[in-house]
Formats: sequence, structure tokens, C-alpha cells
Amino acid sequence: MTSGRRSVEEHEQHVAALLDPLRKKGPLRVPLAHALHRTLAEDIESPLDLPPFRNSQMDGYAVRAGDLASTPTDLPVQGVLAAGDTAAALEPGHALKIMTGAPVPDGADAVVPVEDTHATAPDPDGAGTVTVERSVTPGTYVREAGTDVRKGDLLLPAGTVLAARHIAALAAVGLTSIPVHARPRVAIISTGSELVTAGSELGPGQIFNSNGPALAASASANGADVVTIDHCHDDPEEFVTMLEHAVGVADVVFTSGGVSKGDFEVVKDTLAPRGGQFVSVAMQPGGPQGTAVIDDVPILTFPGNPVSALVSFEVFARPALRAAAGYPPVVCENLPLTEDLTSIPGRRQFLRGRLDENGVTPFRGHGSHLVAGLAAADVLLDIPADTTSLEAGDLVKVRIL
Ligand code: AMP
Ligand code: MG
Repeated sequence: MTSGRRSVEEHEQHVAALLDPLRKKGPLRVPLAHALHRTLAEDIESPLDLPPFRNSQMDGYAVRAGDLASTPTDLPVQGVLAAGDTAAALEPGHALKIMTGAPVPDGADAVVPVEDTHATAPDPDGAGTVTVERSVTPGTYVREAGTDVRKGDLLLPAGTVLAARHIAALAAVGLTSIPVHARPRVAIISTGSELVTAGSELGPGQIFNSNGPALAASASANGADVVTIDHCHDDPEEFVTMLEHAVGVADVVFTSGGVSKGDFEVVKDTLAPRGGQFVSVAMQPGGPQGTAVIDDVPILTFPGNPVSALVSFEVFARPALRAAAGYPPVVCENLPLTEDLTSIPGRRQFLRGRLDENGVTPFRGHGSHLVAGLAAADVLLDIPADTTSLEAGDLVKVRIL
């Protein structure tokens, strides 16, 4: 076992090197239905023009604008064209009733919206006359082919994290599968004999496991696939069994709890003899940190207090998962403090806080067990280890949660 005191920066580098292999998984093709929140691995060029053909932007009448030099004008109606239909060319001096999305026939150069017309009742052959109230210029309400995107033009650049609007564009050009970055596979093991999974009764001395669900949610939100979530008692045999399963199915394992200085530190006691490094990192919360590699799979061991576990994930795991999934880096901003604060020397502090139009306000309670307090936060204030006091108005580095 190696021990010692590390700066946050040193531990960040150590973890980044351990998790670097996650970035080297090659891209893969996935069906469009599975592409949401994934990252494009290549530029996508449009395989066709959009719109693919000239079509009507309105329910109305396809006309030649030149036939409407004076209005109102009566035009014989040549027929009706629904979306999905095709039609012969428009005869001079005629109109063709047309629905939104139907192809504008050759010969027509504009569409008059139905609101600007009066139609006479059609005769038994379906023919009738339309009175057009207003003239139109050529091109009115006609959507030309390729005016959205042209065949061969860039539709979406590599690196796009796919949201619903991107799926719409990919579907509109007829793509069924796309090249995306691999998502790192994550296993999560929460340790603690006091933990109960929500849904069961709490017995004396027991608490609900919040780190398992929280770490799983954090991993998914940052581009990972959570492949297994386990909860283990402070029992080394049980932990080893779960760990063996985890390293068999995941690219990285996150554990919580069992790394401090108590009598039943199952994670530390199991992994230290297997080459794990357990160190005290100069940060608060999240001081006790550990890493190990089992069967070539990196393992990050976070402390059990819920705020410590999530801050640890935020600082050490989140950047690497995002890089592996091709997500953009974590956003940090420098924002003004709304009030004075003091910070302990020698520790980089990550304070929970809230953001509003005046700046960022740190919460008063700092306990790393304060889950409800964490839920009320929308930012982490990142106070350097050598800073002991700041005044209202000073700029502070803030991580948006
Ligand atoms: P440990 O790091 O195992 O010593 O745990 C530190 C504190 O965090 C203890 O109060 C634990 O009960 C609590 N804790 C540990 N794991 C969890 C968890 N998965 N969910 C909620 N609280 C936890
Ligand atoms: Mg514990």
C-alpha cells in the first residue's frame, strides 16, 4: 500500500492517466433509435437535397404568378394535389388545389394560400373555379429543393452530442445508422453494512443508499453506460465477488465508502494488498481517495459521505468520462461572490452554492453528509488550497453542476 498526501492536481493527473485508455475505444455504428445523447464520431454529409423536391408551403392553389396580373381573377381548377401525390404540369391560365408538402407542378411558380381565395363548388367531374383575391410574386410559398441542405453539404459536424433536433435532421435525410463514439461502460459498487436499497424498510441504524443511484445518474449524464450497480456489505468476500463481476463487464469501476480510517474499511482493506493506492488528497470534501487496477480495469474508490462521493466524481471522474464519450469539457466560470467567505488553509475546498443574477452564494452548512443541501445547490465553488478568505465581489471559480 502506498500512502501520502496529494494535491488535487496531482491526483487529477494520476486518475487521468489511469482512465486514458477509455478514450481509445474505437467508434461504432448505432441505429438512429439508439443515438440520443451519443456523440458523432465523423462529419455527416447529407446524402440528398432537403427538401428533396419543390413543394408547397401552404394549403392553397398552385398558380403562375403572371396569370394574376390583376385581381380578383377567376381561374379554372385543374385538380387537387395532396401531400404524397404527383401531378402533371399546370396548364396556362389554370390553378391546381394543393396541400402543404405536395410537389409544386411544373408550370406553377407560386402558391396562393387558401385564405386569399374563394372556390366555387366543383361540378360532378371535380372541376371548379377559384377566385384569387390577391396577386403573388413568383416563388411565394414555394419551398425549393435543396434550400435547407444540399446533397454532399455538411449536415452535422463530428463531435455533435445528439439531441432530438439532430435526430430529426438525420432522420430527414434517411439515415438509419450513424458512427458514434463508444460510451465507457461503468460499474458502481456502494459499500456499507448500514445501507438499504430504497423500497425496503429501514431498520435501526440503517440509511438508504444514495451514492449508488447518484453515481449511476452522474455517469449516465456524462456519456457513460452504467452496466451494473451493486451494493455490498462491509464484507471482504462479498466485495471481491462483486469486484470480479464488475471488472468483467465494465471499462471502469467506481466504488463508494470503505476508504477511511475506521475498523471496517472493506474497499481499502481489499484493494491495498492488490496494488491499490490510498491517499489523502488536500481537498474538502473528498479527502480520502483511492485507485487500483484489477484485470486492466481502473477502479476509483470514493469516500462514502454523499457530498464527498459526488464531489469526487465531479473532480476526478467526470472529465475523463466526458472525454471518452466525446462530450465537450466540463464548464467552469469565474463569477462574483455575493458575500464574504473564509476557507481552511491547505485544502482546496469545493463549496456548494447557488447562482443568481447577483453572483454566487455559498451555503453555510458544509457537512459532507448534507444530501438535501447538495440537492439545493446548482454550482460548486472551487476555492484554491492557499486561499483563506474572499470578499463579496471577488471572482471565484465555479463549476456548473
Ligand atoms: P464511509 O466512507 O464508508 O466511512 O462512509 C462515510 C459516511 O457516509 C457514513 O456516514 C456512511 O453511512 C455514509 N455512506 C456511505 N455510503 C453511503 C451510500 N452509498 N449512501 C449514503 N450514505 C453513505
Ligand atoms: Mg462505510
